[in-house]
Amino acid sequence: MHELALSEEILTILTENSRRERFERIVQVTLEVGKLSGVEPESLRFCLDLVFRGTVADGARVVILEPPGEGWCFGCGASTDLPEIGASCLHCGGGPVDRMKGSEFRVLAMDVI
Ligand SMILES: [Zn+2]
Repeated sequence: MHELALSEEILTILTENSRRERFERIVQVTLEVGKLSGVEPESLRFCLDLVFRGTVADGARVVILEPPGEGWCFGCGASTDLPEIGASCLHCGGGPVDRMKGSEFRVLAMDVI
């Protein structure tokens, strides 16, 4: 599963940070998962819960921010909402629309003790 591999990557990032910063436990992790990233937030949450068990992030609260898709239209030169990859421009109905936002996938913040 895609989300499981991503969860393991996140855990690696958190574990490396905990070694470097020498904190005991992570109580909250904030992630940015764009609407166009192809990642299913609920599935990700489930997988994180699994891989966090017995680690520095065991029981951590997971906050997932989902920035919407946004693009820039080459047809009319305006920025437009982009509900899905390959969608047409909402202003002129054409394109191509270049994806500007919405594909983010990263750890934004973590709260530690
Ligand atoms: Zn347009």
